[in-house]
Amino acid sequence: MSDSASTNSPLAYRIVIGLEVHVQLKTETKLFCRCSTRFGQSPNTQVCPVCLGLPGSLPVLNLHAIELAARAGEALHCELASFTKWDRKNYFYPDLPKGYQTSQFDLPICVGGYLDIPIRVPSDNAADAATLSENMVKRIRLVRAHLEEDAGKSMHDERAGRADTRIDLNRAGTPLLEIVSEPDLSSAEEAKDYLTELRLIMVYLGISDGNMQEGSLRADANVNLHIERDGKTIPTPIVEIKNLNSFRSVERAIDYEVERQYREFLRTGLAMGQSPKQTRGWDDVLGQTDLQREKEEAADYRYFPCPDLVPVQLTEQQREAAKHESQFTPDRYRNVLLHTHAVKETDAEILIQQGRDVVDYFLEMVRAGATPKRASAWMLQDVLRHLNDQRVPIDRYPIAAPKLAELLMAIEQGKVDTSQAKQALAKILDDPSIGVAAAIESLGIVRVDVSEMETLCRELLAENPDVVDKVKAGNTKAVAALVGQAKKRNRNADPRVLQEICLKMIASM
Ligand SMILES: [Zn+2]
Repeated sequence: MSDSASTNSPLAYRIVIGLEVHVQLKTETKLFCRCSTRFGQSPNTQVCPVCLGLPGSLPVLNLHAIELAARAGEALHCELASFTKWDRKNYFYPDLPKGYQTSQFDLPICVGGYLDIPIRVPSDNAADAATLSENMVKRIRLVRAHLEEDAGKSMHDERAGRADTRIDLNRAGTPLLEIVSEPDLSSAEEAKDYLTELRLIMVYLGISDGNMQEGSLRADANVNLHIERDGKTIPTPIVEIKNLNSFRSVERAIDYEVERQYREFLRTGLAMGQSPKQTRGWDDVLGQTDLQREKEEAADYRYFPCPDLVPVQLTEQQREAAKHESQFTPDRYRNVLLHTHAVKETDAEILIQQGRDVVDYFLEMVRAGATPKRASAWMLQDVLRHLNDQRVPIDRYPIAAPKLAELLMAIEQGKVDTSQAKQALAKILDDPSIGVAAAIESLGIVRVDVSEMETLCRELLAENPDVVDKVKAGNTKAVAALVGQAKKRNRNADPRVLQEICLKMIASM
């Protein structure tokens, strides 16, 4: 052990993370056969001679997988290969009975590219997590993205002292796009942000359902530290953490691994630098990583070109289609919400994270005449709450966007105030067949005439000279106190008209 390892002063270090994300493509059938990819079916009911690897069976490429991969490549700013081929990767586990995985080795379908994530600025308040800065992004470069087939699923059965393993091959042969980043990520939060945005892009563009519980998105994280000591930068061995299948596990596993590598470095010192790469598995229950094996290098997999599949050349038509279909990214919607409609950044992000259908609903309301500010407020307070309580997607929301817009416009036009509009909304939710006008009428709103409101304002101004002084001093917001009192005396009085009359009276005093 070296001397400096025993000192207590902490060493400065930089965290270096690269992610390999496996995205399950949203195809009806597997990559090289016509078996269904549906989730949750009885074990081994979605298999055929091709995905079972029976002798004499021949794979036939699913073209839709190529289209989806090209769409992802366009969205991630990759260069689409003009010529891409298939390779066999030796695979030693029983969940792929062929004994190899069909993948892409030296000529992947997508090369390079990048993904922008928000920059996190450390907060002054240590208790407060890092916050997002406005309009600033960090560019995470991509190495490549390639297509490959998924393996089956091993189920370990250890009940009653039995320790046998059963295999479900329904998933074997399902198309995956493996997206490999450069080691540009430097914290667990950044890794989570990257994964969140990547998932969102895949879902927005219909490339994947992004369902992490069902394994549609799995990440491996390559993590190490660059530690400063005695004026030198010493890298710790790279550790690959396998099969992280939730945002939470990605964050926890990286945090754990950073701690572990730092402690290990202090314990063993410089010699650490020479030990080989490791593969470690994340145990979500114990909250730790465990050594699985010393990492194989590519040579151990002995890739060789697949003799059964012809190389793929993307046609001009396929390229154009990919370009066209990759336009509607979350970032594009973000720009529309922030810059065209001036939605508050935090509100816009909530809408964006809900998915494309929710953003489309909002945009439809705005097109129908609702103001963006009111529309986003009602989306967040009423529509999303309803969806959340009822656990339904937006297409099951009982009120169409133009109808909700009509209700919001009734507020703009002074026909109802906000609380009355909420009552009308409740009536429409109870019975979606009634129209907005009928719902408002059924509230029995009595229109208060202007002279009545003027009398009310005059009384209130006489009783509240302090408010009058404040407004005269330039604090026009102080008038809200009068409106509150007025509503108590006459609940049908329109607050906007009240406010207007009071301000006019004060101005002429
Ligand atoms: Zn099959």
